[in-house]
Amino acid sequence: MTNEEHTYSATKTGTRSILPDNMISVEEARARILEVFSVLPAVETLLGDAQGLVLAQDVSATFNIPPLANTGMDGYALHASDTTGATYDSPLELKVIGYLPAGAVFDREVAPGETVRIMTGAPMPPGTDAVVPFEETDEYDWTKADAKYQQGDWQNAPRDLVRIDVQASVGANVRAAGEDVRAGEVVLRAGTVIGPAQIGVLASIGVDRVMAHRRPIVAVLSTGDELLRPGQPLVPGKIYDANAFSLAAQVRAFGGVPRILDVALDTVEALTARIHEGLADADLLVTSAGVSRGDFDVVKTVLAAEGEVGFWTVLMKPGKPLAFGRFNAPNGRRVPHLGLPGNPVSAMMTFELFGRAAIYKMLGRLEHDAEAWRRPTVQAVALDPIRNTDGRRFYARCHAAQDAEGRWTVRLTGPQGSGVLTSMSLANAYAICPEDQDVIAPGETCEVLLVDRESPPRQPGQS
Ligand code: AMP
Ligand code: MG
Repeated sequence: MTNEEHTYSATKTGTRSILPDNMISVEEARARILEVFSVLPAVETLLGDAQGLVLAQDVSATFNIPPLANTGMDGYALHASDTTGATYDSPLELKVIGYLPAGAVFDREVAPGETVRIMTGAPMPPGTDAVVPFEETDEYDWTKADAKYQQGDWQNAPRDLVRIDVQASVGANVRAAGEDVRAGEVVLRAGTVIGPAQIGVLASIGVDRVMAHRRPIVAVLSTGDELLRPGQPLVPGKIYDANAFSLAAQVRAFGGVPRILDVALDTVEALTARIHEGLADADLLVTSAGVSRGDFDVVKTVLAAEGEVGFWTVLMKPGKPLAFGRFNAPNGRRVPHLGLPGNPVSAMMTFELFGRAAIYKMLGRLEHDAEAWRRPTVQAVALDPIRNTDGRRFYARCHAAQDAEGRWTVRLTGPQGSGVLTSMSLANAYAICPEDQDVIAPGETCEVLLVDRESPPRQPGQS
């Protein structure tokens, strides 16, 4: 943090007294957060672990794909010139000199008047230049009758002649060598996000590992005396820790590796110990709770003592208080810290808006597209009123749907309190009610962020 005003330190004064009212927009908060992160180093990564990562080097093919000209159909490889004039009414016959499955190579020259029975993907036998598919021959009449064929004896042609019913042109049903990729060609450029198709291309050129920017390790720490872990018996006054699990799942969904730390009780010692644990190799520490004004000062005290931290009031709802700073890790590193509000929806929403961008930056996804963290946005007609109660930008949990004409509509998924996590679980989109607007009335159009391409299942009875 460069701006003194936004830096909080517990060294000289009491804790709450110097907290400034740092009201900032979502955009400003994101920009300040992103400044602190950089792209993580490239490491050798197995193809199976590369999904969602960014390639750090160009990848070229060392050979043609396909390596050899091969047949795109099951049929008969032949000399196209042998088929001149062939029709169903006046077919011609060629001498079958062998069978060739995919995976084998035919080692003899095929002379004019000869043909080789060939399976999809098998390399073209020397001398042949076209394939006539089975459908244009007497293959099916013949296979029904032939016992050897049914036993799969392809080595020794069990018959001498095949009837060809059509004229073939040179290259018919032949896939040329190098048709997909030419030897030496760059198939994927540095900066490419590795998705399923890119993984397929890499595998097709025989690559089993790539240089890619490594995934950020994100330590996730829940704070609060009231927290129990799921699986522990519920006792009066306590609640289950939802945030560690929802945040870890978001980390994973955005491409990071989450590390859930043990819950920190609201004491300086407990929190300090947990934070040190989290700093060992984390690229980002995410904490939830303890950053709002009414809180005990433990979290703030520890944050200030362990590094530098700013407390912001972000003009958004849910999620307003946000701490952001850097911790001094024992190994001399400075680990960015994102201190999220404790309310489960606020924690998720702020991590959606800020954590996602930070992870994308570390992954290298912002190198070629600085706004790649953006969700797809659509204009949608509100079916429910979306109310903005206090002049902060409101992100309403809703279900967005598109009708047959392509028109989007949104409906709220339930109560919008920042502790109501179920309405989050039904949402596939967030409708935005701007800072300066009191309400989006039914029938009015609003901006909507689509967060999940797959709509969550509808609850029974939900309209
Ligand atoms: P705080 O930010 O500490 O004021 O917490 C705000 C609200 O969020 C309180 O009702 C907390 O009990 C709740 N809360 C804090 N941490 C968690 C958590 N990990 N899981 C679920 N609720 C939480
Ligand atoms: Mg608390």
